[in-house]
Amino acid sequence: MTDAFTYEALPMRVVFGAGSVARLPEEAERIGARRLLVLSTPEQRGLADRVAGLLGERAVGVFDRARMHVPVETVAAAEQVAAGLAVDGCVAAGGGSTIGLGKALALRRGLPVLALPTTYAGSEMTPIWGLTENARKRTGRAPVVLPRAVLYDPDLTVTLPAAVSLTSGLNAVAHAVEALYAPDGSPVVAAMAEQGVRDLATALPLIARDPGDRAGRTAALRGAWLCGACLGATTMGLHHKLCHVLGGMLDLPHAETHAVMLPHVAAYNLPAAPAAAAALRRSLGAGDAAAGLAALTARLGVPTSLRELGVAEGDLARVADEVLADPYANPRPVTRPDLVALLRAAWTGGTP
Ligand code: NAD
Repeated sequence: MTDAFTYEALPMRVVFGAGSVARLPEEAERIGARRLLVLSTPEQRGLADRVAGLLGERAVGVFDRARMHVPVETVAAAEQVAAGLAVDGCVAAGGGSTIGLGKALALRRGLPVLALPTTYAGSEMTPIWGLTENARKRTGRAPVVLPRAVLYDPDLTVTLPAAVSLTSGLNAVAHAVEALYAPDGSPVVAAMAEQGVRDLATALPLIARDPGDRAGRTAALRGAWLCGACLGATTMGLHHKLCHVLGGMLDLPHAETHAVMLPHVAAYNLPAAPAAAAALRRSLGAGDAAAGLAALTARLGVPTSLRELGVAEGDLARVADEVLADPYANPRPVTRPDLVALLRAAWTGGTP
């Protein structure tokens, strides 16, 4: 690695703090939106109605059918509602699935999005969009999908169940880990990644003990913002590639898959990425970074094996083939035997 780098800041506005949802009307005014459509999943309809209430006349409708992986049919239905109501912007209130729907509307209709993230996935900080058609997810990068403002309100995350919060937080940690050894890293990204992991490693055990812990919720959301910004600024490696293939091929839950794979990929990659390992040792307060990540996941009581997620051992070879079929950035070369061994270790679980 050399000292050279390129860093391009994304035009992002962040409003952070407990109660910041109340600032939504000023943010709508700021972007000149007068006819907003509020997006949510069916489960978060209550939040969507509350948000619409806060916006008053500026909210002209609620579309509560956001779904995982942004199916094109869902986008088409939302586009029809948006056109019928002549909306001039959207508010995405929810996790990566709802924000993904907002991004799809921004991509296809040019509608500006205000985001209210309620998980730690980090999609709101990235120009990456995804659309699923005929069981295949296409993804791309387009600056137009970046939210015009992101309101991070820790109060909105208190209802996220503890188990989901912990895996979602580890999903965020994975963004930072891979950003630390990304080919397009920089000192700015490294600083965000180190602090993001520190925040989440401190916060997640507090949330495990008490999902209503305000200090824990605040630190976790701040960490998720930083880790999401790392995801948006860099190219992810083996870990994200593996999780993408596992999720797509075997229909595994997104955040749990990240939680299971992270210590194993870290143990494989970090020996080839000493600066990343040093940053993680500092942020985790651990003598060994991969062992520190394994200890964190064990302490949180989240799933630690692919077997627990319902993967059959016989599927591992297929996963390895698909991962190897497409090149991706990684600090350590990946051979088929290495990859199969890594997958088998993750399938069995235990210390990597
Ligand atoms: P999600 O948005 O699918 O939410 C999971 C469930 O939790 C939903 O039912 C949701 O309504 C509920 N929920 C969310 N927040 C809640 C809260 N505070 N209280 C109660 N319930 C709540 O999950 P996710 O992990 O945030 O997002 C995963 C999706 O996001 C995946 O499709 C992934 O590919 C995508 N993603 C995209 C990017 C990107 O940059 N484009 C980044 C990260 C994730």
